[in-house]
Amino acid sequence: MSINYIYPEFEVVRDESKCIHCKVCVRQCANEVHSYDEDLDVVKADESKCVNCQRCVSLCPVRALKIVKSDCKLRENANWQNDTINEIYKQADTGGVLLSSMGNPKPMPVYWDKILINASQVTNPPIDPLREPMETKVFLGKKPSYVEKDKNGNLKCELDPQLELSMPVMFSAMSYGSISYNAHASLARASKELGIFYNTGEGGLHEDFYAYGDNTIVQVASGRFGVHEEYLETGKAIEIKMGQGAKPGIGGHLPGKKIVDDVSRTRMIPEGSDAISPAPHHDIYSIEDLRQLVFSLKEATNYKKPIIVKVAAVHNIAAIASGIARSGADIIAIDGFRGGTGAAPTRIRDNVGIPIELALASVDSRLREEGIRNNVSLVVGGSIRSAADVVKAIALGADACYVATSALLAMGCHLCRTCQSGKCNWGIATQDPELVKRLNPDIGTKRLVNLMTAWKHEIKEIIGAMGINSIEALKGNRLMLRGVGLNEKELDILGIKHAVE
Ligand code: SF4
Ligand code: SF4
Repeated sequence: MSINYIYPEFEVVRDESKCIHCKVCVRQCANEVHSYDEDLDVVKADESKCVNCQRCVSLCPVRALKIVKSDCKLRENANWQNDTINEIYKQADTGGVLLSSMGNPKPMPVYWDKILINASQVTNPPIDPLREPMETKVFLGKKPSYVEKDKNGNLKCELDPQLELSMPVMFSAMSYGSISYNAHASLARASKELGIFYNTGEGGLHEDFYAYGDNTIVQVASGRFGVHEEYLETGKAIEIKMGQGAKPGIGGHLPGKKIVDDVSRTRMIPEGSDAISPAPHHDIYSIEDLRQLVFSLKEATNYKKPIIVKVAAVHNIAAIASGIARSGADIIAIDGFRGGTGAAPTRIRDNVGIPIELALASVDSRLREEGIRNNVSLVVGGSIRSAADVVKAIALGADACYVATSALLAMGCHLCRTCQSGKCNWGIATQDPELVKRLNPDIGTKRLVNLMTAWKHEIKEIIGAMGINSIEALKGNRLMLRGVGLNEKELDILGIKHAVE
């Protein structure tokens, strides 16, 4: 007799008085939770398979469905919580490493929510974005330490290559393979429409998306999947991925079931084989080695493209960033520990890394102290959830932000956290052709454009309230921030005063 150690996490509540037996839920659930019993004429549910993706709830025509968290719990205590015990049961069952998706769900401090923005009142009046011009454009790349002009006022100094963004937000790296063709199409098209960038991640660039090269950042990761000359030439910038916030210190992992035809061709690896990129780049063991790769990529592309080096936020990040700034890189991207992922070992995701807010503040301070802040632009990611988070990040010292989970949510993701299964019911983190069709790229594009347009309006409103009319004037302006509920050490690292001071 087999024993079910784990009670289902969710319960499917079906209101029989409303259900019309249309079987939409049966057809829509890739996890096969719902089934129809013809003999009894009832729709049943196998709750052990439910991941609470809410697809059936959203599509039930009569709102007969509700998914609720089960209140049936083991006898937990402060030390042995229900989830911890269930994880032990799962590992005792399988003998394997637990895999998870999306960001760290643990109740760690979210510093964005403990930082408040200042507003202008009497002496330095606010600016009304409906009536006054506001500049949200930013340029990413190395800046000259001084500016020389000829007698006609034209710039004499030569500028290193820059990325021009209409607003200080870009879509972060999500590889083709971890997300679907239609999700990539939506990101590429939305980036073009918005005048920003999306990022290929480590999966290469599908041939159909070469047309969006001017809005594409191509990534070179430790596995070098899909990297070739034309790929490097096509992107507007090249990102060397040294680390990722959701899984610092380990490589990427795309399960073999997601490596199907186009994905395998784009990555240049066999179909069905797990794509496991190594934890380190096997040619990088020092800043000098990193410099070699930075300059190899510059050389290969005629010094026309900014090189981004992406690292996970870890202890001592300020010293690491200082090294990267001296390696010849043009942009440093730092990914905080709440950053999402398509698949990561649960223990790594939940226990490794540091909050992006602290990492950003310490890196910006260190680069300023060392007089090398202009050598690089700083891009931060790892759970940027709203326009307010963007404004706070810029005031803490970022030049721009990377967003991924917010973009997935805009496309319909319901944060069920099972991307690694390949059965995304919303057509995003899947390669199953029937599921991929569920995300209409026209609608995906529109929703992404809407989200970013809304954020741009909000950014203008917030900085206008601060009496600031450009992102450039907001950058590193920590006097505009105040902390609440933070201790002296935290305020010190963030470089901000307590509320009312
Ligand atoms: S989708 Fe709703 S109405 Fe249709 S069978 Fe399922 S629960 Fe019943
Ligand atoms: S992308 Fe899909 S599978 Fe991943 S969390 Fe969102 S809804 Fe779930």
